This record gives sequence, structure tokens and C-alpha cells, in this order.
Amino acid sequence: MNVAVVGAQWGDEGKGKVVDHYGARADFIARFQGGNNAGHTLVVGGKKTVLHLIPSGILHPGKICLIGNGVVFDPAAFFEEIEILEQSGVFRGKPAHEFVRVSERAHVILPYHRLLDKLREEKAGHGKIGTTVRGIGPCYEDKVARRGILVGDLLRPSVLRQKVEHALEEKNVLLKHHFGAEAVDAVATAAEAQRLGERLKPFIADVRAILYEAKGRRRPVLFEGAQGTLLDVDHGTYPYVTSSNCVAGQVMPGCGVGATAYDHVVGITKAYTTRVGTGPFPTEIETTEPELAQRIRKVGAEFGATTGRPRRIGWLDGVALKYASELNGLTGLALMKADVLSGLDFVKVCTAYRLGGNTHYGFPSAMEDFDRLEPTYEVLPGWPELPRGMSSVSDLPDEFRQFIKFIEDFVKVPVVLVSTGPGREETLELADPFTSSVALRSGL
Ligand code: GDP
Repeated sequence: MNVAVVGAQWGDEGKGKVVDHYGARADFIARFQGGNNAGHTLVVGGKKTVLHLIPSGILHPGKICLIGNGVVFDPAAFFEEIEILEQSGVFRGKPAHEFVRVSERAHVILPYHRLLDKLREEKAGHGKIGTTVRGIGPCYEDKVARRGILVGDLLRPSVLRQKVEHALEEKNVLLKHHFGAEAVDAVATAAEAQRLGERLKPFIADVRAILYEAKGRRRPVLFEGAQGTLLDVDHGTYPYVTSSNCVAGQVMPGCGVGATAYDHVVGITKAYTTRVGTGPFPTEIETTEPELAQRIRKVGAEFGATTGRPRRIGWLDGVALKYASELNGLTGLALMKADVLSGLDFVKVCTAYRLGGNTHYGFPSAMEDFDRLEPTYEVLPGWPELPRGMSSVSDLPDEFRQFIKFIEDFVKVPVVLVSTGPGREETLELADPFTSSVALRSGL
């Protein structure tokens, strides 16, 4: 069985922990979109590791982590992570390239992508998207505009130089005349990229072929999504989105695999909602319940893993979760961070939106609608402190079980995993997507 995991909200759902959990069962863990704008926080044995680019499965010894062609790849950021992992002994003295491979077809983020990202955000002022300024958007733009640099190009010096010169032709006009910045030197940029390419050589591979072979040999694969469904460039809250498709279907073009590449899709959601940066957020409570928002942010440590920005806080949005489920074809839900809400008298779940005197059960596509809509809530009893180590559903307080049941009935997808803390041991698995060949059942 192969499994894809995706964020079912606006990111930061706790994908790092879930990928780490399922990673133990997979031989290969593959990323299929995004770049080092992702930030997965893993806590293993009390030690915190934040990964941005390398799949979170890397902390399990012996797993092969793959970076698919759909990822935009920053070689400098990659080597920073490799060094951190080397220092913490993850590779057990073996060469890192035995465990990590990057597709020759992934697009490369170069310094000019980062520069443009930063200048654009600065110039946009209040209208900014709130990107991580790591060059992700500009790199995807170049990919679609057919002036991108492939990882494989880093090994072909003359092609590389030509392509960098071509990519910079227009950009230098923009940099000088639109942003009032210095032009970027193509020769120096290409030389630096070539140097990184030489170092990268042992990591470069045909990731598609590796996955094709793995499928033939029935070796389990975990596909790891980054960001979250509501940030998907097509289906999210456009234009306040990321620049890639984050839905599970992106596994296929993003890794070069067929439509049968995975058997299950687990969507990750917190028991509440957060959002970083600008954009619509129907269930936000920053102004309506500011003290509660502060409390949740503090208890849940809701500050960006990549940028350190405080995350905006809101109640669980059932309408958005259902939309995410439909978009991804979710077969299971992983419910995270319910411990953060422990001790509240009640919790709320948004079940519809009121808009212009009507009730809507769907997720709007027009930005103007988000400004006017009002969430309608179901109010459910809060739960006491949750146990850290759990062996069955009966270890959970009744009120929390009622919450789980409500979500399952509303979204029509079973909760297959419950997390009550950042550590590996604070996890209750209700069904295993790697072994369930039929629709997953939570047993609640
Ligand atoms: P990701 O990008 O989706 O991996 O999410 P982040 O790593 O940015 O945010 C998740 C944060 O919540 C991390 O600091 C995790 O250690 C932490 N975390 C994950 N699951 C739980 C949980 O069930 N309870 C609590 N309190 N923290 C959790």
C-alpha cells in the first residue's frame, strides 16, 4: 500500500509529525511540490528538528527520501539541511546521498529568485501575499515561462550559463528599472550554481524511475505534501495561495508516477484552524475572541516554523475541511493538537456560512464573498486534559470522542490518527492506511 499525506487546512497542521509517524512503514518518502517554504517540525526523543526541504521521513534510519520534479529546489538550503542532519548523526556516518535523492527535472531556485521575491513583497507593502521570500514563486514562474534551470542543468556548464543569461535578460531590466536595484551578473551566478551542482552530483537521480521500480517491487511509498490544500494555487484562496498545487493529485505530475501511485490519502487537520500571512479566514477569532486566540497561540506554539511569524487563530472550519476532503479524495483524517483546546468549556466547529441572507454549505471562490460571510457554528462540549500515552479510543474523554464523531459524520471521512502532543508517543492510531485495503474505519 502507498499513502499520500496532505495538509487539509492552510498549512502548519502538523504534517511533520504525521510523515514521521507513517515514515517508519515506508521504504521511500517522496515530496512532490513546494520548496523550502515548507517547515516541518519534528520532535523525537525531546529533540526538535525543523526541516524545510528534505522529507520528514529522513529521521528514520535507512529510509530513502526523494525530492520529486514538482519541487522547486534551492541547493544552498538543501546543503544547510544535509549538514544539520549529518551533525546530528542521522546518516550514521554513511554518505548522505545514500538516503536522499533529488530529481534531475526539479527546478532550481537561484539567488535572483530570492531577490525578486523579497523586492516584490517589499514593494507591495500592505498588499503583499506574505510569502516566505525564499524565491519559490519566482522559480515556479520561470518554470511555466520555460526559462527555468533544471537540477540536471547544474551538471552541464555551457547549457547552464546560456540558460542563466537568458533568464536574467528580462529580470535585469525589471531589477534596474522597476525596483531600482542592481543588475545580477549572469556569469558569476552560473559559476556559483555550477559549483553547487558539482557538490550535488551524487544526489541527482531519476526519481520517477526509482518510484516506478519501487511500485513494481511493491515497496511501500509515502508521498509527503507541503503547505495545505487551501493554499493550492488552483483551489485555494487565490491569490492568497502558494505557487504550486498542494492537493494529493499533484503526486502524479510532481513525481512522474501514474494515477494508481497511492492507495490512501490522509488529510491532516488541527482541532482548530491557523493561517499565516494575509488572506481570507472565515473562522478567525483574533478580533471576536482575542483572549482565546492568544491562549491557543501560546499553548499551541503557533508561530511559523519557517518565518517565526505569529499564526492567526480560529475555530475548526468544517466547510473548508469538507472542501479539502473532496479536493484530495481523502480516505482518512489525522486530527492534531486537540490537547491545545483541553480545558475549554466548549469548542466550535463551523458547519455553514451565512452570506447575503442565505446559508452556504460550499467554500466560496470569490474573494469578495469572504469579506461578507459569517460562519455558522455547532457548539460542542469542551474536553479535559488528554492522556499522553493512549492505547485505545476508550482512553479518550467522552467529550473528545464526541468531537471526533462529529467531524467524521460531517466530513464523511474517518479519523485514522489522533495526536495529543508533539512527541512520537503522544499518538493514537485508529486505522493503518498502509495495511487497510478497504475504506478506512476508525472504530468509533
Ligand atoms: P507542519 O508544517 O504541518 O509540519 O506543521 P508545523 O511543524 O509547522 O507545526 C506543527 C507544530 O505542532 C510542531 O511544532 C509540532 O511539534 C507540533 N505538534 C504536532 N502535533 C501536535 C499535537 O498533537 N499537539 C501539540 N501540542 N503539538 C503538536
